[in-house]
Amino acid sequence: MSDLSDLSNDSAVYKTLLESTKAIPWKIDWATMQFAYIGPQIEPLLGWSRQSWVSANDWAERIHPEDREYVVNFCISQSKAGVDHEADYRALTKQNGYVWIRDVVHVVRNAQGEVESLIGFMFDISERKKTEEKLLALQKELEALSFKDGLTGIANRRRFDYTLELEWQSALSSGKPLSLIMLDVDLFKQFNDLYGHTAGDKCLIDVAQSLNLALVGQRDLVARYGGEEFVLLLPETDAAGAHIVAQRCQRLIDKLAIEHRQNPHGERITVSIGVGTVTPSADLTPTRFIEAVDKQLYAAKQGGRNRIEALLV
Ligand code: GH3
Ligand code: MG
Ligand code: MG
Repeated sequence: MSDLSDLSNDSAVYKTLLESTKAIPWKIDWATMQFAYIGPQIEPLLGWSRQSWVSANDWAERIHPEDREYVVNFCISQSKAGVDHEADYRALTKQNGYVWIRDVVHVVRNAQGEVESLIGFMFDISERKKTEEKLLALQKELEALSFKDGLTGIANRRRFDYTLELEWQSALSSGKPLSLIMLDVDLFKQFNDLYGHTAGDKCLIDVAQSLNLALVGQRDLVARYGGEEFVLLLPETDAAGAHIVAQRCQRLIDKLAIEHRQNPHGERITVSIGVGTVTPSADLTPTRFIEAVDKQLYAAKQGGRNRIEALLV
């Protein structure tokens, strides 16, 4: 086998190596900022002729406007500091499209330690980026789905628990009150028995939509808590405000006028409601607050249904 150092004398071998690899080699002279070399592979990839790459400016102008400033500034500062670096960006094609490129840059210094030139390789990373983008979109979709109730389309229990935790912390630091409304459809088992499960599902969807209409605050949240139980989380809302919202829920559901022959309250679908307001403090927990409001809901059921019971603190 021949000594590897033999290659240094064989520029034809170097040239073949450089110009047959998929990565595109290039060299820029630091003093003049002119291209000393760019591989012929650039032309089939981006459409710009090899001769059209004259100065670093040509490179900068062929970067997608959204990436340009950041990438150019980053590469200049790294090069000035003499640090090898890499950057991902969208390179513009002659046909008005773009290709995702990873540019890997080596800073070459002279004997005095001054920057002499930049040598790099451009890699086409479009496929990788496409996969990354698809994965990201999928992840977002999954995230949205995992916080959404499949039947009614409103927030699910998971989203509610998560939001309550956040709002609790926020109320702890602001010292503002936080209200919770829990609602349960009255005699819903009988409704299913009378009208069928599909009609039951439709009823839950309609109730969820009405509750959505009852919200006013930007941060208010309505969620399906379980089967035919719903919750409304009302940040920065005092007891009086919460009571108004609870009444509005009752009214909106009454307006739906969903027939329920066995419900003594107007022979239509009604809900029982528990309401609570709290100013969070260190000796209280969200779980205990929910339990207290749930007790009010139970009291509303015990009291004959289709009514509102509020926690008095
Ligand atoms: P109460 O007034 O005391 O709340 O009586 P209820 O009949 O509403 O209470 P119960 O908890 O006994 O029954 C709840 C019913 O809700 C039972 C269950 O089949 C029904 N349910 C729960 N989830 C769904 C759903 O997604 N779709 C339908 N159609 N029914 C559901
Ligand atoms: Mg129930
Ligand atoms: Mg019920």
